[in-house]
Amino acid sequence: MNGCDLVVRSRRVVLPDGPRPAAVCVRGGRIVAIEEYDAVGGHDLGDVALLPGLVDTHVHVNEPGRTEWEGFASATRAALAGGVTTIVDMPLNSLPPTVNLDALAVKRVAATGQIHVDVGFWGGAVPGNAPDLPRLHAVGVFGFKAFLIDSGVPEFPPLDAAGLAAALDAVDALFVVHAEDPTEVTAPPTSRRYADFLASRPPAAERRAVGTVLDVARRTGGRVHILHLSAADALPLLARARAAGARVSAETCPHYLTLAADEVPDGATEFKCCPPIRGSDNRERLWAALAAGLVGCVVSDHSPCPAALKCGDTGDFAAAWGGIASVQLGLPVVWTAARRRGHPLADVVRWMATSPAALVGLRRKGRIAVGCDADLVAFDPDAPFTVDPAALHHRHPVTPYAGQVLTGVVRATWLRGMPVTPGGPPRGRLLDRRDE
Ligand SMILES: [Zn+2]
Repeated sequence: MNGCDLVVRSRRVVLPDGPRPAAVCVRGGRIVAIEEYDAVGGHDLGDVALLPGLVDTHVHVNEPGRTEWEGFASATRAALAGGVTTIVDMPLNSLPPTVNLDALAVKRVAATGQIHVDVGFWGGAVPGNAPDLPRLHAVGVFGFKAFLIDSGVPEFPPLDAAGLAAALDAVDALFVVHAEDPTEVTAPPTSRRYADFLASRPPAAERRAVGTVLDVARRTGGRVHILHLSAADALPLLARARAAGARVSAETCPHYLTLAADEVPDGATEFKCCPPIRGSDNRERLWAALAAGLVGCVVSDHSPCPAALKCGDTGDFAAAWGGIASVQLGLPVVWTAARRRGHPLADVVRWMATSPAALVGLRRKGRIAVGCDADLVAFDPDAPFTVDPAALHHRHPVTPYAGQVLTGVVRATWLRGMPVTPGGPPRGRLLDRRDE
């Protein structure tokens, strides 16, 4: 097409109103037209689907400070390999945590020049930093993360209900909350049995914390989002709050949708995360909530650490770091399970691209539409592969999905119209809420 830098054609372009044959025309990094499939020449994918690049709003990059756990180069290479073209980095486990202007500046410097996908930042809300929140929001963070329970790292302490209310009062911004209530959680015993760890973090901990968050949101009028929801028992509270008009949303993660507690082998600490993976009926209720739109986003909670901290040698669930690194595998993991349940690819795109972009206000991401960034992923939805940890780009390729046969392979990716590969030069940009 005249005047376009790039045209990508596919018989299965996943557009906001559903998939159809189309040609996507790109100029200056943006989508400028969607034409009929046969109307123009260009790069033809045939039956390989064309998706908007996924948007993963829950990634722990850990750099600087814990760069031996993960870093901007390795995390964004893994993202790119997995069809994720935008990530929003969590404010902890880096040092310093992103709780004030200086810390955000340090993060931006650390990321510059080594990111393979576009990267935005969350700020952190911790005890005593309410005055920092409006300042951080003014310079472009997409919102604030808070914990209601020990975060796992001492420099990012939790808030209580009063602290969360003070934070919401300090700035009109999106607050994303790790919702487990410490009064319902016990210290797990040293054990190789997953059931012992699971029992220490019961559904009641999530239900009670979600109740607290909803209560604070009601009192302050603030905008809140429940991170990594695992316990389906919390869903009725969310449904009631939304019916009553509360500004509340929720996400879940690939592991809660596809793994189950009774399938975790003894000592398999690669399955440990917080909140924990629960039973198979809980999992089915999460799928129902996704189908009903009560849970809108599926994001990775990519949270790696060095293999030694995962305690694979002892298999002790109490001592192991809680976190599953899946930014590279989320798309095929979710798609494999979704298609088995009869969900079309368009649903996966909504959960993993469109809704997360909308959550953080990235208006030009997460959709194939005129005016959007040309972040495009050629995805072969029928191609099977076996998960090989050696093919993972993140720093410590420990994964509970090792050996699983999944369906769906990323064949090519364009970032703002540029062809990009994990082995190529880093072409990502830092994102700022104010530019959106
Ligand atoms: Zn997280």
